[in-house]
Amino acid sequence: MSVQEILNQIHTSISARSDRGEVATYIPELASVDPGHFGLAVALADGKHYTVGDAEIPFSIQSISKVFTLALALGMVGDKLWERVGREPSGNAFNSILQLEREQGIPRNPFINPGAIVVTDVILASSSPAETLAELVNFIRYAADDGNIYINEAVALSEKTTGHRNFALAHFLRSFNNLTHEPELTLGTYFHQCAIEMSCRQLALAGRFLINAPGVPQLISPDRVRRINALMITCGHYDASGDFAYKVGLPGKSGVGGGILVIVPGKAAIAVWSPGLTAQGNSLLGTEAVQALAQRMDWSVFG
Ligand code: GLN
Repeated sequence: MSVQEILNQIHTSISARSDRGEVATYIPELASVDPGHFGLAVALADGKHYTVGDAEIPFSIQSISKVFTLALALGMVGDKLWERVGREPSGNAFNSILQLEREQGIPRNPFINPGAIVVTDVILASSSPAETLAELVNFIRYAADDGNIYINEAVALSEKTTGHRNFALAHFLRSFNNLTHEPELTLGTYFHQCAIEMSCRQLALAGRFLINAPGVPQLISPDRVRRINALMITCGHYDASGDFAYKVGLPGKSGVGGGILVIVPGKAAIAVWSPGLTAQGNSLLGTEAVQALAQRMDWSVFG
């Protein structure tokens, strides 16, 4: 059976589902997204790609942006990043304050919110937020080979006006001397990176920089690609990372917009979008769809 036929079958079975999880409501602008959307895209190393469903509709990538900012931060400061953020699964919610206090302001990993806020603080360095965001968006456009990728200002503003928990985390970081800029400045940049919108097709194509195969745009070293994939599989789904590794067997990064980027090392990048979330903030049907796809394609990093 062809990749396209497999995608079509997954689309048909997902479309029939009535339990679709809950759309994120803590960012008001995301609360109005129709939970009925479903898109899926697979991009192979050479750029050949297959799509099904709402794969052309841009959605809020939210925490998937943390993969791109991590790549930029490692490019800027290398292993010095690990003096400010850990590399262990958190076992806690992505926005847990408790853990940050207990661990003296060193976030467990770069994908939970405080870790990602530190990463954004690093890439800000001495640039302005506008310059940093332009560099980030350009990196993503280049990776996707698509200039039509933008930040949704309304989503960024919506999160800024309601992001009390992220403000609390940023102030905590600052109190532990693990934030070099004012919390407002770093968070303003962070909210904008989360508000980047991409379609499944664009995200799968952009994700190819993490495949490590001949033919992919080599934006970072193969060694860094491996390390980012390791962090994705251990930490990319917060306190459901073990469950995702068990079910899907591939590195993945979720966002509360309902998207997931999944990497099949050496072979492909997958992007899925279904806005309804599990209690841990990961796409419910998105996870099921990539689980089915990985099984059908016989894709796994575990042999
Ligand atoms: N912008 C969201 C937040 O900071 C991102 C969270 C996510 O996608 N898990 O809460």
